[in-house]
Amino acid sequence: MKTIRLLTAVIAASFILFIGCKKEKDITSNSSSNELKTTNQAATKSAQSAAATREKFNKLMASLPVDFQQKIEQRAKQLLKTHPQYRDLVRKTLKLEASECNNNTLINQWLNQQLADWNSDAFFFIYALELIDLPTYYALIFENSSANQHFGVNGEYTQVLTKTFKDLKRFWNIQTQSIVMVGMHGSMLTDRAKIMNTYEAVWDLDPYFSEPLADFVLELMDEFPQYRRGNHPIFTFNAFALQGFDYPYAVISDKIVMGDGILEAFTAIGYGDVAPKAILAHEFGHHIQFQLGLITDENSPEATRRTELMADAYSAYYLSHARGAAMQWKRVRQFLQVFFNIGDCSLTSNGHHGTPTQRMAAAEWGYRIANNAQKQGHILTAQQFTALFEAELPRLVNY
Ligand SMILES: [Zn+2]
Repeated sequence: MKTIRLLTAVIAASFILFIGCKKEKDITSNSSSNELKTTNQAATKSAQSAAATREKFNKLMASLPVDFQQKIEQRAKQLLKTHPQYRDLVRKTLKLEASECNNNTLINQWLNQQLADWNSDAFFFIYALELIDLPTYYALIFENSSANQHFGVNGEYTQVLTKTFKDLKRFWNIQTQSIVMVGMHGSMLTDRAKIMNTYEAVWDLDPYFSEPLADFVLELMDEFPQYRRGNHPIFTFNAFALQGFDYPYAVISDKIVMGDGILEAFTAIGYGDVAPKAILAHEFGHHIQFQLGLITDENSPEATRRTELMADAYSAYYLSHARGAAMQWKRVRQFLQVFFNIGDCSLTSNGHHGTPTQRMAAAEWGYRIANNAQKQGHILTAQQFTALFEAELPRLVNY
């Protein structure tokens, strides 16, 4: 209990980049395309054996410690709250409430397409056993070195992210030795040892229990082709920054975690040239905040909005600066419009990142600081830039 509480607190305190609103999707509706029909047939077949799998699941759950059953049930409910990007889908699937949020952005459309062949069983299991967050937990706890990392399902972002990370460390005048950058891969869901380690570390489970659980997860990966052996983007649709701490199962480093899924999504909709750098620069911004002590204990929408808008501004400053990524602002701007329009609609949530307009205003402001500078080759210190931002914030939130 202590462990999960600690971990939950850590996740709440880390900066989840992607807080989006998922447009509802009637997952029972069939597409007319042949390709999808084939997939649907496969899904139907797997749904039949999923009945047997459910029975197996019930038996497995009954064999696990009672407090684990309760904890995971509780977490499943919590997950529905904390993952807006698929919360609505699941609500729909479980016939819970409809959402007020109707963002119909390119990225949501793409994600909907990716989920077109998911049936209610496919959704059920990823929540019932918290598969949806296992890759996040694994990266958060066990990936603590930049060495031997790859980014993207096939390592397609390794080069650009490694280079950008190095460049960000040079650009900003903060201590960067302790910060590591690690990948988050859904493929860990096919790795027995990694699954076991994760269940043990998150729920204090004994190997006696984590072993049958891991075996069942492996079976699910075979049973549901929809999961794509863990490589479905939904398992890793995120990026976040985290301050290191000692955890019973590992010494956790200061880190930035980059999920395969979110990178894949932005490449799919045509922003593969900007997204990896922009997302990384935003997460790096949170490390500037950690180091300068800019994070307050206050847990309110306003406090989160301030740190998120600040991270957006750091990111824009770096991306557009002649001695930073020196990217075409027009192009960066196009990406950010899409990125910020993912939402969020939950203005009262503590995870509120700012409205799309506010985020755009913060980014535009960061760009102007870089562009209007008298000496283009001069880089402001993190302290100077932050002071300018704090002075600007009251105006930015008026947008
Ligand atoms: Zn953030």
